[in-house]
Amino acid sequence: MNHLLIDVKCADADTKLKALNELKNVCSQCRACELAKTRTTTVFSDGSPDAKIMLIGEAPGADEDASGIPFVGRAGQLLNEFLQETGIDRQKDLYICNTIKCRPPQNRVPSNEEKLACQAYLIGQISIVRPKIILLCGSTAAQTFIKQEFKISMIRGKWLNIFDNIEVMAIFHPSYLLRNHSMEQGSPRWLMQKDLENVKKKLDEILTKATI
Ligand code: SF4
Repeated sequence: MNHLLIDVKCADADTKLKALNELKNVCSQCRACELAKTRTTTVFSDGSPDAKIMLIGEAPGADEDASGIPFVGRAGQLLNEFLQETGIDRQKDLYICNTIKCRPPQNRVPSNEEKLACQAYLIGQISIVRPKIILLCGSTAAQTFIKQEFKISMIRGKWLNIFDNIEVMAIFHPSYLLRNHSMEQGSPRWLMQKDLENVKKKLDEILTKATI
């Protein structure tokens, strides 16, 4: 997907917001795949258009389909707790979206056809926001960018060389962590905490460089 990114030169926050709103309007009318028949609303994004970190999840769930905002259900609340714990500001530091913008029935995994149909919106979002860090949240998001079979537990936490000038890391999806409560050393929640601490460190480095 990286070869499809548009090279948008250093736009300011207002220009990014305007471009994202235009894309969001187009997306809200989209009927490019079967999910348009069953959605309540499209779920485009949350957070800052000028964020340094873009977090990409799988697909909207029931709460997101009802509200139009990604990561607001139980998984989203758990994500918020991890973000607060590591000092990452959801509204200022993050731009949050999903690989597809409409809820699959019964929260099933999106098909390749659906991901392909929705790809232009995701590419547009990356091209406009131009994040310095992309977090691929869960297997579906990671598989969208990494064309090989893998277990998320094997690749999470590593900085991946996928895009020029963007640091990419796969992390666990918080819905997986809802089923794993332990914070013991080496547990999925403990690893998520460590990964996000690593992300915060990288964010601070990027912000420091930008002010020099
Ligand atoms: S999932 Fe994406 S491609 Fe399919 S209808 Fe929704 S916005 Fe359009």
